[in-house]
Amino acid sequence: DNILLDVKGLKKHFPIRKGYVKSEKATVKAVDGVNLFIKEGETLGIVGESGCGKTTAGRSILRLIEPTEGEISFKSKKLAGPGEKYRQVDVMRSPPKELKSLRQEMQIIFQDPYSSLDPRMTVGRIVGEPLRAHALAKGERADRVAYLLESVGLKPDHANRYPHEFSGGQRQRIGIARALAPNPSLVVADEPVSALDVSIQAQVTNLLLDLQQEFDLTYMFIGHDLSVVKYVSDRVAVMYLGKVVELVSAGKLFSEPKHPYTEALMSAVPVPDPDFEMKRILLQGDVPSPVNPPSGCHFHPRCQYARDICKEKIPEYRDLGGEHFVACHRADELDLLPVVG
Ligand code: SF4
Repeated sequence: DNILLDVKGLKKHFPIRKGYVKSEKATVKAVDGVNLFIKEGETLGIVGESGCGKTTAGRSILRLIEPTEGEISFKSKKLAGPGEKYRQVDVMRSPPKELKSLRQEMQIIFQDPYSSLDPRMTVGRIVGEPLRAHALAKGERADRVAYLLESVGLKPDHANRYPHEFSGGQRQRIGIARALAPNPSLVVADEPVSALDVSIQAQVTNLLLDLQQEFDLTYMFIGHDLSVVKYVSDRVAVMYLGKVVELVSAGKLFSEPKHPYTEALMSAVPVPDPDFEMKRILLQGDVPSPVNPPSGCHFHPRCQYARDICKEKIPEYRDLGGEHFVACHRADELDLLPVVG
């Protein structure tokens, strides 16, 4: 009942153009059957190597790019009828007007604070733009912009300046203020600190956590840095070649990983204790092409535990108990390494 967003079988396939001909057969299966749900008030982290489809999945959920197929159900407060607290909305079938309203409730923070802000607009206009749909008097809008700028650690008089006058970290704060302006309940943060200087990554990450409390937000936090994702997330989904291969609480993911890819990904995270020796599992080869993914379990060419069945059959995505979702034929029998540190 406390599920804000429920995604089932989400796919985004891009046809490849050969010359001028779009080929039906050659498609990039960027997102290829993603199943996940996000509970109200939590942070669901999404991790995986580049090319695993995490960014495409985030954008498809908001329909910023049109998904190929799947089900997306969202608990909308703004579309609730009289006497209702919320309305369960079928996002895939939302007509344009409804989608416009949903987009206020589902916002995104982009990775690159340099290209995501219009350089010709003042900060006040950038942050105030989403408020235009609301019937606010001009003064009220300015007050709201000032409040949002202060909430993200900027000054109200920054509203009169332009994006190029700010550092990367400050620009990302502007992007965050813009995302918060329409009062969203869900925010997809797409690698929000990856493009920033390491020295300010923690500041912006902590700001996001503070804002989650203050503005009552639910986050989908996309990242490739496992330690950052662990720090911010309640639960984590691990993606590999367009699919979620494991999804469980952040604590359990690290203490009881059940998917060999998770184990390999985590063994690459540096451990702070120098006396602790951990077996490093080296991932062999690169991520295979999503145009012709390997048969059966997509991870089998790189998996040290692979058996014949792994090449033949796609593993089912199942709950091992206690909301620990895994897609691996051998999840019950393998004793994988926990991460210490
Ligand atoms: Fe490895 Fe087989 Fe599990 Fe895939 S299904 S992760 S190949 S053991």
